[in-house]
Amino acid sequence: MKIHAIQTGTVAVTAAWREGVGHGKRRLFNTITDRHWTQPLPIYAYAMEHPEGVIVVDTGEAARASKRSYFARWHPGLRAFREWVEPEQEIGPQLRRLGITPGDVRWVVMTHLHTDHAGGLHHFTDNEILVTRTELEFASGLRGRARGYVANKHWPEWFSPRTVELEPDPLGPFPRSLRLTSAGDVTLVPLPGHTPGQIGVLVDEGDQAVLMAGDSSYTQELMLRGKADGVGADEEAERLTHERIRAFAAATPTVYLVAHDPETGTRLAERQPVPATQPSRASSAAAGTAPSRSSSQVPSAS
Ligand SMILES: [Zn+2]
Repeated sequence: MKIHAIQTGTVAVTAAWREGVGHGKRRLFNTITDRHWTQPLPIYAYAMEHPEGVIVVDTGEAARASKRSYFARWHPGLRAFREWVEPEQEIGPQLRRLGITPGDVRWVVMTHLHTDHAGGLHHFTDNEILVTRTELEFASGLRGRARGYVANKHWPEWFSPRTVELEPDPLGPFPRSLRLTSAGDVTLVPLPGHTPGQIGVLVDEGDQAVLMAGDSSYTQELMLRGKADGVGADEEAERLTHERIRAFAAATPTVYLVAHDPETGTRLAERQPVPATQPSRASSAAAGTAPSRSSSQVPSAS
């Protein structure tokens, strides 16, 4: 399957944002006050040329986010990240350069609704946008803004995504899943932790799988080490999600794509799977049985 990694600019965060330091409230405090910064990291979204139509996963960031005034300025988290996006780096112009028009897009799947994933929503006026109900509720309104969705006032006025609920159909170690395509080769899986309603898009390429995993970790290496980030909603859930991803990848060669890992583009182009790790007792338990295809499917929009 042709999958494009589309880099919509860069973001720098504090080192303690990328890899959490401490626990509980202390962890957030450390993230905000850390004086060490990462280098500018990519902000990736994806477009998959599927026979049933192009599937866009996340929409990247907006050029306007390069200005600080774009965000809810009272939010303490603003001290801990910076973004650089040129207008031609937004997902709309990049899709056009790939020869993909809005009419070619069948679904836009949002892994979650943080600003650097939802900043390009305005390019998808007439498309079906999918997000979990949990994520939409957690991200909306003033409370959403306080929870870190610092640009949710810039969601397009027409933004009314189709909310999806994953079904209790286990897919390997993932306890729920939802089949997206009729062919059954693209499935949504739960990746809670970084946000409660985060999902990943799992593509079955026959002898291997590709997992577009939002911000389930900031790098593959952090996922392998089971290290939670410094801003996620639930660090225990993040670690359990890492464990499930490792268990899935141990059973099926899996290319792991996260939005801010500088290696994501290369791993996709070369289809480099997650390297084998020594499974812990817990992850072999999480592995359960071999992955089976889920049976529930996203119902067609009426
Ligand atoms: Zn995020």
